[in-house]
Amino acid sequence: MGCVGRFAPSPTGPLHAGSLVAALGSWLDARARRGRWLVRIEDVDQPRCVAGADELILRQLAACGLHPDETPLWQSTRGAVYASALDSLVAAGSAYPCGCTRRDIEETLAARGVNHERFTERPYPGTCRDGLHGKPARAWRFRTPDGVVTWHDRRLGARTQDVAREVGDFVLRRADGPWAYQLAVVVDDAAQGITDVVRGEDLADNTPRQILLQRALAVPTPRYLHLPLVRGPDGHKLSKQNGAKALDLGEPLAALRAAAAVLGLPPTRATTLGDWLAEAVALWAGMMRTPEPRSPE
Ligand code: GLU
Repeated sequence: MGCVGRFAPSPTGPLHAGSLVAALGSWLDARARRGRWLVRIEDVDQPRCVAGADELILRQLAACGLHPDETPLWQSTRGAVYASALDSLVAAGSAYPCGCTRRDIEETLAARGVNHERFTERPYPGTCRDGLHGKPARAWRFRTPDGVVTWHDRRLGARTQDVAREVGDFVLRRADGPWAYQLAVVVDDAAQGITDVVRGEDLADNTPRQILLQRALAVPTPRYLHLPLVRGPDGHKLSKQNGAKALDLGEPLAALRAAAAVLGLPPTRATTLGDWLAEAVALWAGMMRTPEPRSPE
């Protein structure tokens, strides 16, 4: 089967030096494997979306010579598909309604003496697992199976997470209506036949949740490669909040060179966009033939 990669930006603002790394990395990986590359606009969280950012991102990608092989998919058009995935999870007993507010969750965790500072998420204490106890339903949650999830990242190596303990039963549809990223991304990666997920390292700890959902929905698990992040002056992932500037459409080659350096590609002498992209694909293919560098655990 051919490789299919994707870039899945949330249209919360224009492409910048950080998001271009994920766009370029996923494009190079697909092209180096002679695969297809798709773009998906992840606009499920409407309040965070900025009007026109989707079209701007697509223009910025085009200015960089990164052209998707299919018409992009907008997640805001996919509600019926997510609803049927949720229905099948509910029917299988893998999802349930939850009536807890944030405050209920905090109070239960505090009463149980759970110190969640150590975890990236506030683990859901499972209060509504066996019923709503008369409360109105506010969200739908995944019934996370017990046990450690082990997976392989092409750059980070072997990874493990005890999702049930560290995250708990995570949300699939939020109280205020929107579909959660975890459900939408798993349904769409499967629907688009994605074989290789290449994205920023900040999303690596979402992967075990996505693998559990893939298993529950009986869809394949793609290969994963989480790329190094560009950091802002405050040391956090570069974002609009810490000063990321929109990619300059007039200087695509300069922006691509900077993104390639983050990906560990050596500089090239190419002076035109077409030559540069062709050389970058060849360099990426060469890097894939040598053993993947492993980050220290
Ligand atoms: N939409 C997510 C973001 O922009 C990326 C999702 C993914 O690549 O899985 O951060």
